[in-house]
Amino acid sequence: MIRLFPNAGGWLEVVCGPMFSGKSEELIRRLRRAEIAGQRVLIVKPQIDSRYDIGHVVSHAGAKMRAVAVENPADIPGLVDDYDVVGVDEVQFFPPEILLILDGLVEKGMRIVVSGLDQDFRGLPFGPMPELLCRAELVDKLQAVCHRCGGPATMTQRLVDGSPAAADGATIVVGALEQYEARCRSCHELAAPGFATG
Ligand SMILES: [Zn+2]
Repeated sequence: MIRLFPNAGGWLEVVCGPMFSGKSEELIRRLRRAEIAGQRVLIVKPQIDSRYDIGHVVSHAGAKMRAVAVENPADIPGLVDDYDVVGVDEVQFFPPEILLILDGLVEKGMRIVVSGLDQDFRGLPFGPMPELLCRAELVDKLQAVCHRCGGPATMTQRLVDGSPAAADGATIVVGALEQYEARCRSCHELAAPGFATG
């Protein structure tokens, strides 16, 4: 396998950005290219992400690639032992243990491509993302199109029953209609704590 960093063994790539910025699409594109070059590729994703299809990563644009859902980061090394390139989708949902696990795979010479939200709906760092961004050899921060003004969007807007969610809002609001939009920094809104339905 041709190495991007010849003396470094493997390496870590991060693809991040808000919702609707094409992260999963980009992850699939990178792994597909490696596959065409004859490399063995596998995508893993957290079990909690039951969007669309549990056995695949599916982008909003419809690109699709087989993926293995894992509950615990410690299960990943056993699954990916025979692969050259490992993708991790929705990496922000994994607990901090994912950092050491992925480091170990990189040490073994694997190319790891992770994709996920860098910020939560409050605009705060999401899970293990800050550390992954710090450790990565390559980082790409994708933008979406702001749903409100059409400018470049870097944030994810959470709406509960059509209104901006509060920063202290429950993660899951039973019976409420929850929606997400991509927004730029100036269009992104958070309701005052305890004010909105979120
Ligand atoms: Zn905007």
